Amino acid sequence: MFGDTIAAISTAWGDAGISIIRISGPDCQDIARATVRTVTPFDQLRPRFMNNGILLDESGTPIDEVLLVLFVSPKSFTGEDLVEIHCHGGSLVAQRCLERCIQGGCRHAAPGEFTRRAYENGRLDLAQAEAVNGIIQARSNEALRAASRTLQGELSQRIRELYDELLLLSAELEVGIDFPEEDIPYIAEEDAASRIETLIQDLRDLLDRCTTGCLLREGIKVALIGRPNVGKSSLLNALLQESRAIVTSVPGTTRDVIEEVITHRGIPLRLMDTAGLRESPSDEVEAIGIQRTSKAIEKSDVVLWILDGSKPLEGIDRSMIASLSDRPHLVAINKSDLPNSLDETALTALAPDSWVFRISAQERHGLDEIKEAIVDLAAKIGTLDASLNVTSRQVGEIRAAIQALAEGRDVISTMGDQSLAAQALTEARSCLERILGLQDDEALLDVVFSQFCVGK
Ligand code: GDP
Repeated sequence: MFGDTIAAISTAWGDAGISIIRISGPDCQDIARATVRTVTPFDQLRPRFMNNGILLDESGTPIDEVLLVLFVSPKSFTGEDLVEIHCHGGSLVAQRCLERCIQGGCRHAAPGEFTRRAYENGRLDLAQAEAVNGIIQARSNEALRAASRTLQGELSQRIRELYDELLLLSAELEVGIDFPEEDIPYIAEEDAASRIETLIQDLRDLLDRCTTGCLLREGIKVALIGRPNVGKSSLLNALLQESRAIVTSVPGTTRDVIEEVITHRGIPLRLMDTAGLRESPSDEVEAIGIQRTSKAIEKSDVVLWILDGSKPLEGIDRSMIASLSDRPHLVAINKSDLPNSLDETALTALAPDSWVFRISAQERHGLDEIKEAIVDLAAKIGTLDASLNVTSRQVGEIRAAIQALAEGRDVISTMGDQSLAAQALTEARSCLERILGLQDDEALLDVVFSQFCVGK
């Protein structure tokens, strides 16, 4: 339990129907009593019921008619005594109400401090606390559902199951190490390696669901690349259904990277139109544009390689496909409204595993198929409906756990070294602990909760 009492305006800034000021901590009732004159005497207020009252200024003059709700520990969001004052939603009246609370002896809450208290009082684990932010930041129904699944505990529960299995396996390995005189390992090496492998698979499945959750929030970065004049800007415009990028028939005019966002199936697609690729850049500006293209490709999740179907393949196309083969990409043969001059058999020979689409940016033909394919490439099939909202921090921890487990599996299967394997398992366990917040790590909590808004 925390010693001090905090307050903040929990609703968004600006004119609105109502604003809610939240006060949490041991003195919240005294502060509320001094700030609001309730119709029912304060001592007789029933927790969790709305009560009429008048917000008073320092001199006891009424400022606003308000509603006041008491929450008594532990039955509150933070787990401690908490009061909500619902005043009218003008920025000034909400600010005055907050000032009155501060004068009454509490302090301004830091970002995310209410949720941090809920976490520290055991009302939520860290994964659920981070999902609260996911709910606030959701921009599509799919993202909202993913955050809600995480808040309901789907991620925490799965991580806990895997954590328990990992703990059991670690314990069995440790027993074998601690009693070597028995001369028979407590757990057979093949058995340990196969159980670690199962854990890796389970974590990978979970990672797929989380990665899709991240995509719902952060979007899929798509680099539109291709030779000058193949129709990159036209395709971007067709996708946006508005003309913001400059479309011109002079090759090489898109020299910077333009990013625009559309959504498909609730996922933001961040389309980056890049400078056209050429074999020999004709001037310095264009060379810079080409460098930017390479960077855009580097940071993209999916590369959309555009070809002009009315022209034959060129040398640059051949070297391009070779460099794309190891990353998620699609090939769009544009200008399908014009007579075809592109040898598709040669293209298939060059890129046998690539998804190829014939489209026309001008006629707006084949665009839905492209959007669908981008989502399918970035999100593993079946994960969209089961996606979990997580932060990149949590994804990083799952990845690190998988890596530690893979090392553990390798040392036990190649060297039979149970002690090194046990160390790797301990490292994997720490990763899962950091997801759930099982370790006391102030620095980690500071980082996590600083991402929140004030009042949450
Ligand atoms: P970028 O250099 O790759 O960005 O190419 P642009 O989008 O500037 O397009 C180059 C030229 O091709 C313009 O004159 C466009 O009108 C034309 N163009 C783009 N897409 C199509 C298409 O699907 N069909 C036809 N016929 N022309 C297109």
